[in-house]
Formats: sequence, structure tokens, C-alpha cells
Amino acid sequence: MAYLGIDFGTSGARAIAIEPQGSVLAECRCAYASNNASAQDWEHTLWALLDQIPQTIRQRLQAIAIDGTSATVLLCDRNNAPITEPLLYNDSRGGAPTVAPVDSPAHSATSSLAKALWWHTHLPDHRLHQAHYLVHQADWLSSLLHGKPGISDYNNALKLGYDPQALAYPQWLAALDIAPWLPAVIAPGTEIAPIQPAIAQKFAIPNQCIIKTGTTDSIAAFLASGASATGEAVTSLGSTLVLKLLSSVPINDAKSGIYSHRLGNQWLVGGASNTGGAVLSYFFSSDELHSLSQRIDPAQPSHLDYYPLLTPGERFPINDAELSPRMTPRPENSVEFLHGLLESMAHIEAMGYQKLMDLGSGAVHRLYTAGGGAQNQVWQTIRHNILGIPMGAALHTEAAYGTARLAAGLVGSNPQ
Ligand code: ADP
Repeated sequence: MAYLGIDFGTSGARAIAIEPQGSVLAECRCAYASNNASAQDWEHTLWALLDQIPQTIRQRLQAIAIDGTSATVLLCDRNNAPITEPLLYNDSRGGAPTVAPVDSPAHSATSSLAKALWWHTHLPDHRLHQAHYLVHQADWLSSLLHGKPGISDYNNALKLGYDPQALAYPQWLAALDIAPWLPAVIAPGTEIAPIQPAIAQKFAIPNQCIIKTGTTDSIAAFLASGASATGEAVTSLGSTLVLKLLSSVPINDAKSGIYSHRLGNQWLVGGASNTGGAVLSYFFSSDELHSLSQRIDPAQPSHLDYYPLLTPGERFPINDAELSPRMTPRPENSVEFLHGLLESMAHIEAMGYQKLMDLGSGAVHRLYTAGGGAQNQVWQTIRHNILGIPMGAALHTEAAYGTARLAAGLVGSNPQ
């Protein structure tokens, strides 16, 4: 038996097939043909990934789940065909929806709701009349496999305004003009339907292979780590610095960009800082990051106090839209400069967990690391020295692995 997780990230897609207990059977990846902005491109990528999984594994697939970038949405007609280009995760053209309460994750200029409302006011009438399903990237790609449009999971639906505590759309949302477009929402990892026969046949996948609801790419990366107990956290060292902590209580502080996803009967509390790998990549190539890091002595402090940002403005852990980047004084020696950047980011990470704890999340007992920076052992040591939290070895760092675990039923649950 085999289970497949497919991750549609910001720059490309990956698929990982696992055995029932979680060991990896196959792994493949595919870059988007263009800039990630077309549903057709996503669809081709999905077929290309299925093609790349060895047939001997496809023949054993019992379930498939897909994760996608959060708040990347599509508007489709009643036949599930897109009637617009997608609006991507970072698109803020709609501005923050004032109709959403300020503590709602939908109250953000990049939320799925903001995009839906933008379409509602900007699409020409003939297009608007065609609109039937508002879906997220993962929802739409899954529906290509199972053939039932308009189904989402409560992780993807969070930034639409869905209330994962009440397990319902709130009244204020159900009263909007866009309400008829809203997808049905069920728990991540829930069975939707068997794969469509024509697709099963084309890829030699068993007819009884079930397509399950997925999640967002960042939750999938959390699930990949193996973290499962309250107090376990995952720091993602990707382009940005993202903190996620399993808590027994939800915390929402939209102005600081803190919100909580439901994971069974626990809450995944998260915040994202604008510092992170994008700043490192601005100054150094990946080879330089690797080789210069080897020359840092993590036992010594850098004596540099930076706030590394590419542009002014930060939401978490400091909520200040004008916050200036601070990356001076810059030593001539690149090793010292990199040391200062890595150490300062570790301080921002520590400040972030402290902020979550101040808001009532409970303590962090164990920390896992994901993202491109996770490979940097010197940074790991610097972070450990500053954070003082025991660090666990992540099972895996690829979001596709977390989604494969969801497909296999190793994580995810249906709250009562
Ligand atoms: P994304 O958020 O775009 O998915 P990834 O998880 O792929 O990002 O991580 C990419 C980031 O990892 C880059 O911005 C890069 O700066 C960082 N990175 C890559 N190698 C290293 C390294 N050896 N040390 C620190 N950071 C690294």
C-alpha cells in the first residue's frame, strides 16, 4: 500500500509517496512552466508529477492529498472551469476587507476573502454571472482528481473567514454577496471520493484510490516534521521566518499577523516575520551561505545587533509597518557579516516565541526546523544557544511529506 502527498509551493510542486508507516517510497518535483500564475500550468504540473511517480508505486496508491499555497484562489464556473486567472497568496490588490472583524484571519489585504470581494467588485457582469465556485489552489487541483467541485478544508478556508472553532462560516460572511461561491468545508485529511476512473486508468492508479482533503503548504510542512504534542513547535527558515506552535488554545491577533489553525483538537498558532532567507539570498549565493557558515564559530557572539529586512515594515514579532531594516555596521569580513545576520534572526525567532507565550500559547518544549535554512548546522547551534529550547530532528522537511502523512491517516483528525 502507498499514499501520495502533493505540495504546490510558491516556486514549484513536489510529490512524495510513502508506505503506511511513513517511510518514503518515491519523491519527485516539477518546476512551474511559467510564474505560478496560471491554473493550466498547475494542472500540467499535477499530471507531470503523477507521471514521474514510478508505475509500480502508482499501482499501490490507496489515497492522495494535495496541499497548496494559502490564500491562492480561483473563481470557477459551474463546470469547475476557471473564469479568471488565479489571485496568488501575496496579492493585496483588494485591501483589507472591512467587513471582517479585525481579529479574523480574513481581515488582511492578502486574505482569500479580500480576493473574492475584489473579484465581486471588479469582474465584468458577464463574468460575474458565470462565477459559481470560489476555491483555493489545493481544492481545485484535488477536484481535478475526484471530480467534485467546491470542497475545501478548514486550514485552507481560514483566510476566507471560516470559523474553525464553530466549524461554520460566521453570520457576517454568510450574509455577503459572495456567500453562494463559498466552498463546503471539512477537516483536512477527510475522504472526499475515489479518483475519477479516467484518471485512474490513465496513470494506472487503482480505481478505489481515495482523494482526501489537503491543507495549506505551511501546515503541511509542520506535519512533515513529526511534531504532534502541545508545546512542540516548528520554525521554518524559508524566504521568511515562520513560527508555528501547537497549543491547547487558539490565539488570534490579526494586527500582528498571528492566527490559529485547527489541528484535530489542538491549535497551530503561527506568526511570520519578514526577516529570513530572502535577506540571506540577497547578500550571498547558496554556495557562499554554506561555505561561509562553516567558518563561523557559533560558540562566540557576533557582537552585531541587526534587524535584517529587505524593505521597511514588519508585523511579527514587532508590529510596525515602518520598521527600518538594520544591517549596519557591516564588517568587511563576510563571515562576520553572515554571523551577525544569522544570530540576529535567531534573536527575532526567540522574540517571536516569547510573543506567542505572552499571548497565552503555553511554553515551547521542543523545536523542529524546516525550510532551506534547516540544512545549516552552524545556524542550528547558534539558534539553540539563543533559544535554549531542546531541538528535535524533523522526520522530513518537505511539505509533500506532511501531506502524504495526511493521506495515510498518520495525522489529522475529525474534531467532535
Ligand atoms: P521558500 O520559503 O521560498 O519555500 P525554502 O524553504 O526553499 O524557501 O528556503 C529557501 C531559503 O533558504 C533561501 O532564501 C535561502 O536564503 C535559505 N538557505 C539556503 N541555504 C541556506 C544555508 N546553507 N543557510 C541558511 N539559509 C539557507
